[in-house]
Amino acid sequence: MNQDYLKHFQQAVDNVRGEGRYRVFQDIRRVRGEFPKAVWYKNEYSEKDIVVWCSNDYLGMGQNECVIEAVKSAVDTAGTGSGGTRNIAGTTHYHVQLEKELAELHGKDNALVFTSGYVANEATLGVMSRILPGLIIFSDEMNHASMISGIQRSRCQKHIFKHNDLANLETKLKAAPADKPKLIAFESVYSMDADIAPIQEICDLAEKYNAMTYIDEVHAVGMYGDRGGGVCEERGLMDRVDIVQGTLAKAFGMIGGYIAANDIITDAVRSMASGFIFTTSIPPSTAAGALRSVKILKISPEIRDQHKERASELKKRFRAAGFPFIDGDTHIVPLMISDPVKCKAISDQLIEEHDIYVQPINYPTVPRGTERLRFTPSPFHSDAMMDDLLAALHKIWDQFDLKREKVA
Ligand SMILES: *Cc1c(COP(=O)(O)O)cnc(C)c1O
Repeated sequence: MNQDYLKHFQQAVDNVRGEGRYRVFQDIRRVRGEFPKAVWYKNEYSEKDIVVWCSNDYLGMGQNECVIEAVKSAVDTAGTGSGGTRNIAGTTHYHVQLEKELAELHGKDNALVFTSGYVANEATLGVMSRILPGLIIFSDEMNHASMISGIQRSRCQKHIFKHNDLANLETKLKAAPADKPKLIAFESVYSMDADIAPIQEICDLAEKYNAMTYIDEVHAVGMYGDRGGGVCEERGLMDRVDIVQGTLAKAFGMIGGYIAANDIITDAVRSMASGFIFTTSIPPSTAAGALRSVKILKISPEIRDQHKERASELKKRFRAAGFPFIDGDTHIVPLMISDPVKCKAISDQLIEEHDIYVQPINYPTVPRGTERLRFTPSPFHSDAMMDDLLAALHKIWDQFDLKREKVA
């Protein structure tokens, strides 16, 4: 290899580093039965116990005893890998049962399981324009990278509307030719800003302008609604959205993604989407664990209540301390630092000196100048853990001379 090649790679990394957003992955080992605790491997020679405050295993289902049992039992019964793509020997009975369960969860005819939520978005949105020639996609500006990538792959005309802005969306819908097929793509819970889309109103606009709706409920499935069907279930809107997309990797504690929709839609996506067709299906044990997790959360409103209580307790404490956090209606609590270098330095200090792990969230995950620490309290974050966190943050706030908001 000519050394010039390497220079380009080095330059790319230097650019990232120069902006203070060079990413360091913390090496941790989760401890079964002790969620949200983990062991942090600082380096080869040093390890210590920490409390994780930024996991997307929102309800600790990744360590739920029944889920673990379901995974183990499927491994004992069916082995490890699935052994094929969905078309060629990779559709096991576990996949079939899981898809049935997910369809039922969302009140749809059918569901399709993908390798990840990312792939579900990219593959489904990516194939839409082949199914609907001339399609125009209307996409919320804060949509996840996987939706953006799918829309780009689709190579259709796209209009990006201002975040959760109905007037702006309507202006764009109105300006588009009435006879062209349209699709509005958005999320329910936006995980970095901790806010929720006006789903009903977006569906009203979709009806008015004859558009389809596609909603990413990744940060809501398992956690919102009486059975964990997401914000659409909570608000009685499941039949108003055409395609629901979710993940098995966050509240359900496994890995994999899915869509649920009318069976003609899932049949078309199943038959045409490259990212569904040309890849090995998830292991049977993963499907079995996800199935168990969905079933448990369907009948466990008390876990959701505890989750909400813990999130509001953390927000109450941040409010009393005058910390500048986004006070939304969700379980996510973003604490604004608004500087990439400080954000990283604070995160480092928290883990080094206080045994608290919260990853700095920098560009491009969020816009520059809005760097933050994103806290995800779970039902298992105790009052004592919150005491430790608040004490640590107070100390750091003074040390970094950060602003406190006036407490009412
Ligand atoms: C995490 C995430 C995804 C991707 O889901 P994975 O299952 O982790 O691949 C999709 N959409 C949103 C909004 C996400 O935050």
